[in-house]
Amino acid sequence: MTTRTSNTTGTASLQVESLQKTYGSGPDAVRAIADLSFAARTGELLCIVGPSGAGKTTLLKCISGLLAPTGGVVRIAGRKVTGPPEGLGIVFQEYGRSLFPWLTVEKNVELPLREKGVTRAVRRRLVTESLDAVGLGDSRDAHPWQLSGGMQQRVAIARAVAYEPQVLVMDEPFAAVDAQTRADLEDLVRSLWSRLGVTVLFVTHDIDEAVYLGERVLVLSRRPTVLMEDVAIDLPIERDQVTTRSDARFAALRTHVYELIRATQQASPDASAADASARG
Ligand code: ADP
Repeated sequence: MTTRTSNTTGTASLQVESLQKTYGSGPDAVRAIADLSFAARTGELLCIVGPSGAGKTTLLKCISGLLAPTGGVVRIAGRKVTGPPEGLGIVFQEYGRSLFPWLTVEKNVELPLREKGVTRAVRRRLVTESLDAVGLGDSRDAHPWQLSGGMQQRVAIARAVAYEPQVLVMDEPFAAVDAQTRADLEDLVRSLWSRLGVTVLFVTHDIDEAVYLGERVLVLSRRPTVLMEDVAIDLPIERDQVTTRSDARFAALRTHVYELIRATQQASPDASAADASARG
C-alpha cells in the first residue's frame, strides 16, 4: 500500500463524460441516465446521492465496465473503460455475498492479488498492511461467518485497499449494519482515504452520510438522470461524528442537499413522460 500525504493533486483519475444509458429499445425503452458528466481528481473523496431509482447502480455498472453505456465515455486514469478496469476496487453493500465463506479472512484479501499476479512476498505485505489498516490484524485466520457484519465489511474494504486501486468505488457499503458500526466504518473510510490518498467514489442514499464523508457531493436527479448540483463540502478535513454533525455548517449543507432531493422527487414530468419525449 502506497502511503501518500497530499490529496487532490489536480489530475483526474475518474472522468465521466456525457454518459447516457437507456435500457432496451422501442416502446419499452427505459431511459435511466439522460446525460451525466463529472470528474474526480486524484485523491478526492466524492459522494453521490440521489433518490431511489436515480440511476446510481446504473452509473456504477458503467464505471466498473459491467454495463456498456448507450452514449458517452468513462475513463479511469485516462483509459477508456470497455470492461472491468484494472485500477478499480469495489466494495459492495452485500458483504455477506462478496466474501468466500470457506476462505479465511487472510485468503479472502489475498485472492485478487494472486489473480493479479502479485508475488508471494508482496502479497503477504499488502495483506498484513491492509488488515492492520482496518483493525483486523488479529482476525486473519478467522472465517467470515465467525465475524460480525461490520467486521465482514472491514474485510471487504481491506481486500479492495490491498489491491491498490486508483479508484475505490463503494456502493452503499454500510446500508446493512447498525448505526454505531456504520459510524465507525464511516470514520474508517475517512482515515484510509486521508492516509492512502486513494480516489474514493462513495454512493449512498443517506444524505447525512454523504455530507459527513465527502469533499464534494454530487446530487443526482430522478431518472432520466442528470446532475442537479455538485456541492462543495467546505467542512474541516478532520471530522468527528459528534463535533462535525453538530456543526451549523453541516446542518446547512445537509438541508441544502435534502431540499435538492425533495425538489427532484416532486418534479414533473414523470420518468415515463420523459421516456416518451426521448423516443419522440
Ligand atoms: P438506483 O441505484 O439509483 O436506485 P438504478 O440504476 O438501479 O437506480 O435504476 C435506474 C432506473 O433504471 C430505474 O428506473 C430502474 O427501474 C431502471 N433499470 C435498472 N436496471 C434496468 C434493466 N436491466 N432494465 C430496465 N430498466 C432498468
